[in-house]
Amino acid sequence: MSLRTSFTAAVTLAMLAGGAQAQSAPEEKFITIGTGGQTGVYYVVGQSICRLVNRDTATTGIKCTAPSTGGSVANVNAIKAGEMTMGVAQSDIQYHAYNGDTPEFSGDNKFDKERAIFSVHGEPFTIVARKDANIATFDDMKGKRVNVGNPGSGQLATMEVVLAAKGWTMKDFSLASDLKPAEQSAALGDNKVDAIVYTAGHPNGSIQEATSTVEANLVPVTGPEIDKLVAENPYYAKAVIPGGMYAGNPDPVDTFGVKATFVTSADVPDDVVYEVVKAVFDNFDRFKGLHPAFADLKPEEMISQGNSAPLHPGAEKYYREKGWIK
Ligand code: GLU
Repeated sequence: MSLRTSFTAAVTLAMLAGGAQAQSAPEEKFITIGTGGQTGVYYVVGQSICRLVNRDTATTGIKCTAPSTGGSVANVNAIKAGEMTMGVAQSDIQYHAYNGDTPEFSGDNKFDKERAIFSVHGEPFTIVARKDANIATFDDMKGKRVNVGNPGSGQLATMEVVLAAKGWTMKDFSLASDLKPAEQSAALGDNKVDAIVYTAGHPNGSIQEATSTVEANLVPVTGPEIDKLVAENPYYAKAVIPGGMYAGNPDPVDTFGVKATFVTSADVPDDVVYEVVKAVFDNFDRFKGLHPAFADLKPEEMISQGNSAPLHPGAEKYYREKGWIK
């Protein structure tokens, strides 16, 4: 018997026995999921999860919203502060927040109570340059105008790691701007910057806009420093942006990347996390159909890859029931 049927059976029995004991509406619980910019994929992750969760509001009482945010670092900080219930964050950010091993998460900013729920799609570290800027490799960006990412975004955090690995600083660019994903494509088209940076699933609206408003090329991010980053850190992997996905970019482009992950806090009750996870995996085909980046997702990989914080017990309970973990 599933949990839901046994619960319903128990309620029916109670009603028969008690007579007057009517089935009351569940207590309302409001949850928020931190996402990213509206032209990214996190926004679709959050909106999709909420859409599935809200189908069950009558029985669970859970009402879910998924506002646009600054991205990974902003989401993790908002969950830590109790301002958001859950959020999407890059696998590297999940790791750094839990381990407190980068400046933004060290000392008091460490997030010991961070808990993993599942990972989602892969996110290649993506650079797009105007054709007329003649940027064929990462090194060609020296002295150029680059949008390195808005504060709170995963791309800015990952860009800082790449710069440190290469022995560069932001001063190696003639301009290091901090526009949001929704603004940076127009800035590229208007020749305000030579290149933009985005760590995101593909295809996404931001890169589609960039490559369709101006002649632009995806820039490979490879070399010994990147090999070293991938070899030394479990949350990075080599990645390829498929050819033919964006206008004017017929060939696959090599880079490295992270995974998008879904995280929460140990302070969030088990039953809330359980119901959210159940809504996603009980309706998994529907979920996968909500964005092309979700098409190849497999539950076994989502619970075993990209997560470095401990699994939240509410999520673990569902995975055990499914036999996905022993
Ligand atoms: N990876 C980006 C970030 O952490 C967000 C990408 C997206 O919104 O799809 O900020």
